[in-house]
Amino acid sequence: MSTETPTEHRCVKCNRLLRNPSPDGLGPKCRRMIRRAGKAPELAGYKPHQLEKAVENLRQGGLIPLRKSSKNRVYLAVSSDGTSAYRTARAACTCPAGLKAVHVCWHRIAAHIFDLAS
Ligand SMILES: [Zn+2]
Ligand SMILES: [Zn+2]
Repeated sequence: MSTETPTEHRCVKCNRLLRNPSPDGLGPKCRRMIRRAGKAPELAGYKPHQLEKAVENLRQGGLIPLRKSSKNRVYLAVSSDGTSAYRTARAACTCPAGLKAVHVCWHRIAAHIFDLAS
């Protein structure tokens, strides 16, 4: 007898209304796009385990777009335990590793995948 759910679920990527709550915050279409983008040849330069981590975190909804319209997209990267969040973009990240710029952190790779999927 329930025709409506009390809470709205929207895709974090395209903001489309979702019929069911989604564990990663993505609609089926966007999830497919991200999965495909994760295999893009542009990502071949990243270390495989870092790329894997980025995809894994994307699946868990670890990356939330903050600004949609800007050319330089900014995301919020949330750690899997939810204790920390960093502002991240393909070019830079505010996490400790990102600030030191020792290596490319998974946040930036995830941002890159998200960029490619748009
Ligand atoms: Zn979507
Ligand atoms: Zn980072």
